[in-house]
Amino acid sequence: MYSLSADQLTFVQKARELAQNVLATHAGDVDEKGRFPTESLAALAEAGFYGLLIPKELGGQGQSLRVLAAVVDELAQACASTAMIYMMHNSAVNCYLAEPEKFADVLKDAAMGRHLGTLAFSEKGSRSQFWAPVSRAVSASGGVTLSAQKSWVTSAGHADGIVASCISADGSGAAVYLVKKNDGGLSITGGWNGLGMRGNQSNPMTLEDVDLGDERLIGEAGKGADIMLGKALPVFQLCQGAIGVGVAEAAFQAAQKHITAVGFEHTGTKLSDLPNLRAALAEMRLEVDKARAYLVAVVGKLEAGDADAMLHVLALKASSAETAVKVSDLAMRACGGAAFSKHLGLERAFRDARAAIVMAPTTDHLREFVGRLLVGLPLFG
Ligand SMILES: Cc1cc2nc3c(=O)[nH]c(=O)nc-3n(C[C@H](O)[C@H](O)[C@H](O)COP(=O)(O)OP(=O)(O)OC[C@H]3O[C@@H](n4cnc5c(N)ncnc54)[C@H](O)[C@@H]3O)c2cc1C
Repeated sequence: MYSLSADQLTFVQKARELAQNVLATHAGDVDEKGRFPTESLAALAEAGFYGLLIPKELGGQGQSLRVLAAVVDELAQACASTAMIYMMHNSAVNCYLAEPEKFADVLKDAAMGRHLGTLAFSEKGSRSQFWAPVSRAVSASGGVTLSAQKSWVTSAGHADGIVASCISADGSGAAVYLVKKNDGGLSITGGWNGLGMRGNQSNPMTLEDVDLGDERLIGEAGKGADIMLGKALPVFQLCQGAIGVGVAEAAFQAAQKHITAVGFEHTGTKLSDLPNLRAALAEMRLEVDKARAYLVAVVGKLEAGDADAMLHVLALKASSAETAVKVSDLAMRACGGAAFSKHLGLERAFRDARAAIVMAPTTDHLREFVGRLLVGLPLFG
């Protein structure tokens, strides 16, 4: 489906192996306890996946967004929390790659599996409208100090690098800085007990007079939108597309297995003898296949530099998130009370699927953005 070369396929096969042998083993416990998937992240780091997008000359694997999408699809089928943490890491890496020489040390560390990145865009003051940070950097000798209330930061307390947005010190626009885990003034200010994606530690974080030298500025002060929307967003959107597909695939697989395996003793028939359940399975399968085909088409548009690529990059997350919600809902209904209990692993997919709807840009935002582009209006009105 992803039209990969033999070389590219080795990454996907390795990801599938890790997904089945490591991620799937811990996913239930991670969800139950709401704990960080340490074993899964360690396995990804060890196998070189932290450096998937990083050029070979910096020690990475030099792979494309197409390979990343296929890898994230595999990971999400086993543990959506791990896939999301990995998505945030790659979004951060693509920001560092805006200035590969300046961030060479960080990129080399990531390629070696020693640096996990994340994004801290959402703020208490502007909520889901992350493109409009309210915190403002203050000029200081050799850089700035930053105080900010970041409302959700995936991998909080675990990520080594936090790509944080703010208003530039001169007030001319946004600015994006690399904040490091051990920087003075950085703290976690809340817990994480989510409905879904329970393993990703998306805690609120507070920055209080954090000193950030000019060497931490990513891109230009005042032009942070180029980094947020031009570097982080495309990777975030594509990976979210792949997570939606992976979660929907997991729901379908669990439903298919259950419906094919169990039946009614008193009639000697199986659940699969019921035409309504076969129809539900057919609908789920088609939805997953359509979503994966759209993901691959959008990757192709990005690679080709098509004029409408950005419209589809925006539409992809909304479309994929809604597919995951629909398919996991169909699977829950088709598998009855067995799905309502935890042993099929279906209700986890049902809960995990819902996170993408409300993660910014939310489905509401994306429909508005796509609608504005379709009628010739600028993205932000
Ligand atoms: C599991 C999880 C992990 C996350 N991880 C991170 C992270 O690592 N980094 C990060 O920066 N953020 C992260 N977030 C935050 C996320 O991106 C959003 O900022 C957050 O979910 C928004 O929640 P809110 O309550 O502030 O929404 P609100 O802004 O209060 O929105 C409420 C509703 O209003 C709608 N709405 C808001 N504005 C508009 C508009 N202009 N047009 C139409 N409808 C609108 C929304 O769609 C939503 O339905 C995470 C969120 C979740 C759920």
